[in-house]
Amino acid sequence: MTESDDIAEIRRAVQALCAEFPGDYWREKDRERAYPGEFVDALTKAGFLAALIPEEFGGSGLKLDAAAVIMEEIQASGCNGASAHAQMYIMNTLLRYGSVAQKAQYLPGIASGALRLQAFGVSEPTSGTDTLSLRTVAVRDGDTYVVNGQKIWTSRAEHSDLMLLLARTTPREQVTKKTEGLSIFLVDMRAAVGNGLTIKPIRTMMNHSTTEVFFDDLRIPASSLIGEEGKGFRYILSGMNAERILIAAECVGDAKWFIRKATDYARDRNVFARPIGQNQGVQFPIARCYAQMRAAELMVHHAAAVYDAGGNPGEEANMAKLLASEASWAAADMCVQTHGGFGFAEEYDVERKFREARLYTVAPISTNLILSYLAEHVLGLPRSY
Ligand SMILES: Cc1cc2nc3c(=O)[nH]c(=O)nc-3n(C[C@H](O)[C@H](O)[C@H](O)COP(=O)(O)OP(=O)(O)OC[C@H]3O[C@@H](n4cnc5c(N)ncnc54)[C@H](O)[C@@H]3O)c2cc1C
Repeated sequence: MTESDDIAEIRRAVQALCAEFPGDYWREKDRERAYPGEFVDALTKAGFLAALIPEEFGGSGLKLDAAAVIMEEIQASGCNGASAHAQMYIMNTLLRYGSVAQKAQYLPGIASGALRLQAFGVSEPTSGTDTLSLRTVAVRDGDTYVVNGQKIWTSRAEHSDLMLLLARTTPREQVTKKTEGLSIFLVDMRAAVGNGLTIKPIRTMMNHSTTEVFFDDLRIPASSLIGEEGKGFRYILSGMNAERILIAAECVGDAKWFIRKATDYARDRNVFARPIGQNQGVQFPIARCYAQMRAAELMVHHAAAVYDAGGNPGEEANMAKLLASEASWAAADMCVQTHGGFGFAEEYDVERKFREARLYTVAPISTNLILSYLAEHVLGLPRSY
């Protein structure tokens, strides 16, 4: 695969920025479970988080394939893009379905870094993957909607000004199709926190700034609604394809980091008076992970190309996410094994990246649900749930 000069230039620029944030920066943040605000600010200042925003609103108007390369390089450099990736994938919903007024109101601020759009409120504690059973409601009352309910795993809510929220606006019993009656809102959290919105952090196995969010008679302006009321599920599905492709690109970046780290270590570490990498038992798992990563990488670029051409990449985005998350997790496991005991030592960064990489076969969509999608929607097998 030969890349355009522009994409190669983006890769070099991201690598140069990431070099300013080495392992000890991430280790300290990880130890304290602190948000890497300096890193996110640097990405914003360099314009990377505004890659998808059209030039007329202050962004660089790039396509999803370029955004995927940015996220891949962040991970391949050993940094953690989870601190900032939502801005890339939420953006597509606002760009595709937001009104002219909403775009004019928010996009320039997001592009300049004055506003952060990093929170995505879909998951709820009781509904799990069954999104259509979500219970958070938004009820129209004059010029406002009144929101009640709870979200869980709303990552970066404490570090975001805006949240893209999925809530039910028509009770499930009153719609003919269960995919109807859900709506999307762009919630200004600056005005909401303390006025009906409460955020509670959840401590997890890796540094992810994730939270629970409670809505208690939160009033938001009716102008927060994105697109048409009741059509939110359709909008979110399109945004989820972008999310899957971008997360898959991050997984490819992670796999590249693990493979490079393992290769370097296997070359340098001498046991029984020779490099451990001279043993086929050490070489082959690295080589296998490399082949697995390259296959996933091709699917990620293919899915992004379908998306960028205006097609529906449901099949490709799901396969990219499946293959890339499995490739990165296999590479993470291989990298620990190649490092032996040192794979567990904090200073090598392997154990940190191992914990971070574990997430992606579960979130934003778990492997089983992708397999169900492929079985039902691509292969035509009966729906299993
Ligand atoms: C660190 C972290 C950050 C997150 N960030 C966000 C965020 O910013 N915004 C947001 O909205 N969400 C976020 N999530 C939520 C994430 O998308 C969900 O955790 C994920 O989609 C899985 O849903 P669940 O946890 O409810 O699992 P469940 O739906 O309870 O599923 C549990 C297990 O059962 C399996 N399963 C369930 N149903 C079936 C079935 N029919 N067939 C086969 N297997 C099945 C699943 O594959 C899974 O392995 C985050 C999660 C984590 C852990």
